[in-house]
Amino acid sequence: MTKTEAKQAVQILDGKATALAVRADVALKVQALKAHGVAPGLSVVLVGEDPASQVYVRNKDRAATAAGIAVRQITLPASTTQAELLATVADLNADDAVHGILVQLPLPKGLDADAIVATLDPAKDVDGLHPANVAALWTGAEGLVPCTPAGCIELLDRHEIPIAGRRAVVIGRSMLVGKPLAALLLARNATVTICHSRTEDLPAVTRAADIVVAAVGRARMVRGDWIRPGATVLDVGINRGDDGRLVGDVHFPEAREVAGAITPVPGGVGPMTIAMLLSNTARAAARLGSIPWERL
Ligand code: NDP
Repeated sequence: MTKTEAKQAVQILDGKATALAVRADVALKVQALKAHGVAPGLSVVLVGEDPASQVYVRNKDRAATAAGIAVRQITLPASTTQAELLATVADLNADDAVHGILVQLPLPKGLDADAIVATLDPAKDVDGLHPANVAALWTGAEGLVPCTPAGCIELLDRHEIPIAGRRAVVIGRSMLVGKPLAALLLARNATVTICHSRTEDLPAVTRAADIVVAAVGRARMVRGDWIRPGATVLDVGINRGDDGRLVGDVHFPEAREVAGAITPVPGGVGPMTIAMLLSNTARAAARLGSIPWERL
């Protein structure tokens, strides 16, 4: 028997298909919200002309519009001052037609992203980055959860991959991905280890994990022999490989030979991020309209 025959076939966690399913569910919730007199609205603020940000914003706009969400895109020049951006956020906070506000990051040099995020109405902070939402996540209170980590959990749930009691290793400790994902896994009763650039013998740590999440930003860093046979591998990384193509933080050809389930890049966690933005916007609209989500 060859090595490949001996191993159970790996499950490829198709983020594209799963995201479409989430988006279809959100579209139904949006319809139901409209029937209750609430038309969910999302405002996306783009400052400057960063090409990658322009692509992200366009994709978010398209996906939200397709789900029936009213999108207002506000494009400001790179010369925008902190005071002007704060005033824009204040206007959106006060606008009842706006349920979700997303300030596309990174902001141009000279603008203080933390200060901008801190002035968002936490109830409209669909990126889940406001300190009140960070606190809610860690204390178990209701709040808005950052989209990429929420997408990782949704991907696991929709593939019925158990989390409770499992050993989960998250590589990366950013406020955007690593830390909130660790909090979500912990809330779901995983035993969580957070790794970073100072972790000693990272391969030994990941080898003990049932669930490995890579959120680092280093092409193909996680090798096949870092993975425990049968483990689930979520690859959040988006990097350009030597040939210019998109690759994740995980060495996919090696890891798929060992893992039980794995996300590809592209087509894994990435599409889930946008789907969860739409979900967050619909949830924010429901909460602001005092309509229980479960009743929709
Ligand atoms: P950050 O740069 O903010 O964080 C990277 C983390 O990786 C840090 O905690 C850093 O550790 C850690 N790290 C760096 N080098 C190593 C190493 N050699 N070994 C172990 N840990 C290391 O990145 P983000 O969290 O914002 O993003 C991570 C990746 O995910 C990027 O590729 C980004 O493009 C992608 N991304 C993808 C999204 C999607 O929708 N799919 C959304 C958001 C991000 P330390 O803290 O010690 O510096």
